Amino acid sequence: MDQYCILGRIGEGAHGIVFKAKHVETGEIVALKKVALRRLEDGIPNQALREIKALQEIEDNQHVVQLKAVFPHGAGFVLAFEFMLSDLAEVVRHAQRPLVPAQVKSYLQMLLKGVAFCHANNIVHRDLKPANLLISASGQLKIADFGLARVFSPDGSRLYTHQVATRWYRAPELLYGARQYDQGVDLWAVGCILGELLNGSPLFPGENDIEQLCCVLRILGTPSPQVWPEVLELPDYNKISFKEQAPVPLEEVLPDASPQALALLGRFLLYPPRRRISAAQVWNEVSRTKELWRQLCLRRWSSCKASQMTLGTQTWKQYYLCRAELEFRMECGRPEKDFICRAIAGHKGGIDELAYVSNSGCRFDGQEKSVVCTVSSDSTVRAWDVQEGAEIWSSPVQPAALVNLVTFPRLQLAVTVDKLGLIKVWKAENGREWASFSLPAHSSALQACDRPEGPFLLVFCTRSLLALVEEEPPVSTTLPIWRISRACWAPDETARLMVMHRNHDSGQLAITTYELEAKQSQEGVDVVVQQIASFLLPDTMTPPHLMKARGSQVILLVSGLELVLFTIQGLQLAAFQDHQKPISALWVDESRVLTASFDLSLRVYVWSKENPLPVLKSCYHLLGGSHRWASGFTHVESDSVSIVGVEARNIGTSILRSYCFNIRHGSDDCVN
Ligand code: ADP
Ligand code: MG
Repeated sequence: MDQYCILGRIGEGAHGIVFKAKHVETGEIVALKKVALRRLEDGIPNQALREIKALQEIEDNQHVVQLKAVFPHGAGFVLAFEFMLSDLAEVVRHAQRPLVPAQVKSYLQMLLKGVAFCHANNIVHRDLKPANLLISASGQLKIADFGLARVFSPDGSRLYTHQVATRWYRAPELLYGARQYDQGVDLWAVGCILGELLNGSPLFPGENDIEQLCCVLRILGTPSPQVWPEVLELPDYNKISFKEQAPVPLEEVLPDASPQALALLGRFLLYPPRRRISAAQVWNEVSRTKELWRQLCLRRWSSCKASQMTLGTQTWKQYYLCRAELEFRMECGRPEKDFICRAIAGHKGGIDELAYVSNSGCRFDGQEKSVVCTVSSDSTVRAWDVQEGAEIWSSPVQPAALVNLVTFPRLQLAVTVDKLGLIKVWKAENGREWASFSLPAHSSALQACDRPEGPFLLVFCTRSLLALVEEEPPVSTTLPIWRISRACWAPDETARLMVMHRNHDSGQLAITTYELEAKQSQEGVDVVVQQIASFLLPDTMTPPHLMKARGSQVILLVSGLELVLFTIQGLQLAAFQDHQKPISALWVDESRVLTASFDLSLRVYVWSKENPLPVLKSCYHLLGGSHRWASGFTHVESDSVSIVGVEARNIGTSILRSYCFNIRHGSDDCVN
């Protein structure tokens, strides 16, 4: 006792006085429970012995009050517990109004965790009630007062006293004098506590044992042997008889409680103990709910305040797992060695489109400026300096939502298309509006392509875009096909265009290759279109969402997780399925193919010299994410790749992050 200095008296329970005390050396505040031995020859009281035994078997659980030390004192001994600020009885008593559902849920969850833990260890508390559920300064609920707890033998062969549990929380089998019972008595008490939290006052406040049974019967109805056959064998069943009463629906007893809360309450407050839902089962059910995952997210990342996630298909659970995984991987990866990651500050709202407008990406040495354009959900176009991590310019709010963004790094232009088909060309360095014209109505679904010299789809000559004269529309032509979903230029030809479209007759996806030529005539510039190859994609293939070309003959398609290579005549060269998550970006040049996935893992493929098949080289970086998408390789340097990802935080907000991967390093000691 000398190690402690008593600060005051906290309470006096049935079995001893409780003091607040401070450990002299460590300054730690504890609760000391003095247990007196009235007559020495009795030895240590059973109650206290049980308490110690139960607590020691329980060891450490965050929802069971921690027993720090036990030492003899005078004619008794002292238990030292972690100090708790309050208890649930006090919380209910002092609450101005009934607890809000979130509070009830949170207390119930903590209680269930603690109870499930005890039961898993064959410990039945036998005295669960609000006064024995202590609340820490940080709001944690912990089960205390194991004075009546017993370590139960699972075979149920032993007899126990029925004089357990404080009356209001005493299970019906105990009220009928059962000597054989189990965890069910705690589950009944959990039901009573839940009812009390919802009600603001005890559900069954009996003034004596008989009246207690009356209170229960008034709500649950008289127990019938059909519902509860074992009741017939209970010692006191025939000693008392009550007049037949029908059960009262719980929604009448607790009219303000939610249907879910009442449904749960009804699964605890059942006559047959075996039918009461187990704490572990509720815990499992609760842990499957959105609410739990939301709570976990909020606890871990206080910044995600949304009431609902809008990360595409992501649920709170996925968000939690994803982000935890990201953090784990970030810990494992070697920042500044394997990757550098920067948040680009200042973006408000959601991001709908993103593309690089600079020729170079973020580099390890950070020399060159790297710029991305975004189209935001507030209908603005913005440019961001990836190196500096800040906004460069922002356009005025546009009259209609922007649906498409294409950038022309070499021309330092960004082109947006709005919902109504209005095309605008923006200067990348200062955000000035360079030109604007309307898209013909039938072609609003078309996508533009990055090719400075050539015309871009449907088909504007970019050179004429640059030298746009007022009133005169840019040079354009239409292709003789419809329902185009994607297109790309063959890098080795001046104007070879590969177009993905729906086949005219069957509606099947096809890829057709054209050669385009701009011819000067007397009237102006004419664009001549010539088809050179066409093939149908296998109808088993998911519609590709990325398309690039290599040389003049090879087409690379990405659908979902898969990368597939075809010749322009439709011969399938190879297929790779190396990613765990859908591929979000594809880079193709003369020497390499790179794919990046939503989890920001990277794969590097190398073209072999002899044939057009890429030789697989894996470069799986220790970096993952909760990214909505990761986009836009800029120039892939020999040793680094730069990706800008959008991490969707919650409704309508996103964070831009830029990553630079050291791929040479990664491919050397690749982790797979
Ligand atoms: P009893 O078996 O006599 O009911 P308890 O362990 O429930 O003993 O303690 C009695 C009272 O003392 C509790 O209701 C609570 O108010 C207070 N108390 C018990 N343990 C602590 C603790 N660790 N921290 C703060 N107060 C406590
Ligand atoms: Mg107590």
